[in-house]
Amino acid sequence: MDAPPPPSPVTGLLGAIGHTPLIRLARASAATGCDILGKAEFMNPGGSVKDRAALAIIEGAEARGDLRPGGLIVEGTAGNTGIGLTLVGNARGYRSVIVMPETQSQEKIDFLRMIGADLRLVPAKPFKDPGNYVHVSRRLAEELAQSHPGGAIWANQFDNLDNREGHRRTTGAEILAQAGGRVDAFTCACGTGGTLAGVAMALTRADPSTLIILADPMGSALYSWVKTGTPVMSEGGSITEGIGQSRVPANLEGVRIDDAVQVPDEEALEQVFDLTIHEGLCIGGSAGLNVAAAIRVARRLGPGHRIVTILCDGGARYQSKLFNPEFLRGKNLPAPPWLVN
Ligand code: PMP
Repeated sequence: MDAPPPPSPVTGLLGAIGHTPLIRLARASAATGCDILGKAEFMNPGGSVKDRAALAIIEGAEARGDLRPGGLIVEGTAGNTGIGLTLVGNARGYRSVIVMPETQSQEKIDFLRMIGADLRLVPAKPFKDPGNYVHVSRRLAEELAQSHPGGAIWANQFDNLDNREGHRRTTGAEILAQAGGRVDAFTCACGTGGTLAGVAMALTRADPSTLIILADPMGSALYSWVKTGTPVMSEGGSITEGIGQSRVPANLEGVRIDDAVQVPDEEALEQVFDLTIHEGLCIGGSAGLNVAAAIRVARRLGPGHRIVTILCDGGARYQSKLFNPEFLRGKNLPAPPWLVN
């Protein structure tokens, strides 16, 4: 059979964001008797789900007249939002100033420098500390808004609702169309909550019976928030990047979340390594955690259900960590067997 005609040309980087495949995960589906589908967000031009939020935030700021030609985009990020903002900024004529905790992967740091971000690494501090990267980025944006000739905006991904709105319009709408309107459950980890909230809004509007399940790493406060109504940080920690929160960002407010699962790193890494070696899907840690959560939910619901999750970014972004036996040994985590000899 001939291949279907390829889609018509798109305009620039912006037209290449989104429209990612929804991939049936063979082993997870076979093991549970469910249909487990992963949205391949690692296929976005910047390599992650955050390209969509970056585009929505920049378009929103332009539409409101906050971002003008020659303006700066300032943001605090675990890296992927910075990559998305810098690439979209490059395509639209804005420079970016990116504040990032120095604990994030070297690959993300190198990539941000490579694409021309003005990168400011800061020590990792809790949110309540004024030195936390989010607060540093807000103060920097305020200063630059006064001093930079083209002005500056603070992207404010955690509390800027353009983030979830972009996901509702694109990620959520695409999933609905690709899944033929039938999704029994959606599992998703949260950094800003933009992905979970936007997709949840789209899915539950189409079918209120779709279950929305938070996937949370150890050390995050969102699990307890969903379970008890109060965000309390859990014991333990996680090597996953870009997910887990000590507070409830505005993007998550007012969104129905039916339940939460807490996934230890061992379980997330098992999926990262399994999908890499058996299905050729080399994914990052948050994607592994999302798949692990989807499997748990599938087991709970029983065979015959369709569960959708997000493959947030790719493994190459974490080669020096998730795929580095020495790093993993230091964290008491199992290494991919093919890298250990
Ligand atoms: N996974 C990765 C790798 C990320 O960088 C992020 C964003 N920080 C997320 C998941 C979470 O996405 P969101 O901000 O939409 O909750």
